Amino acid sequence: MCRRRAVPAFPASHEVRVAIRGPATSYQLVIELASPVRCTIGRLGTFDFPAGRYVYTGSARRAFEARITRHLAGAVNRHWHIDYLLAAPGARVVAVVRSRRAECVLNAATAGRAIVPGFGASDCRANCGAHLKFRGAAGTGRAREGRGG
Ligand SMILES: [Zn+2]
Repeated sequence: MCRRRAVPAFPASHEVRVAIRGPATSYQLVIELASPVRCTIGRLGTFDFPAGRYVYTGSARRAFEARITRHLAGAVNRHWHIDYLLAAPGARVVAVVRSRRAECVLNAATAGRAIVPGFGASDCRANCGAHLKFRGAAGTGRAREGRGG
């Protein structure tokens, strides 16, 4: 199991609001992991997460902002795979991207490597493999950062 952070959450000021027309239905959390962790992700199994930057792609058709707030606050009850990773020591959300694109389209357009098969993809019908992508060491690749559409 990964230990829960003693210090909760991240300042809301770290949020990035991307201007979009119409209601967003999908979102991406840009996550930085300060140090490597071994973390049990629910029933998916236990995995090693290298330090660095990750992008998680999710969707919420209802209560969209509540979902994002929940992620940022650090959910007490772990329901989604991402809840486990966000509870890991040294994990923090550094940006939130809102999008009207379909979750899997957004995920497919995001560079990175799926290192945990099935992560966040329980409901995926597009063979994404995983909705969490590892982008490499933090602080690199900023120029390649994908933008929401
Ligand atoms: Zn998918």
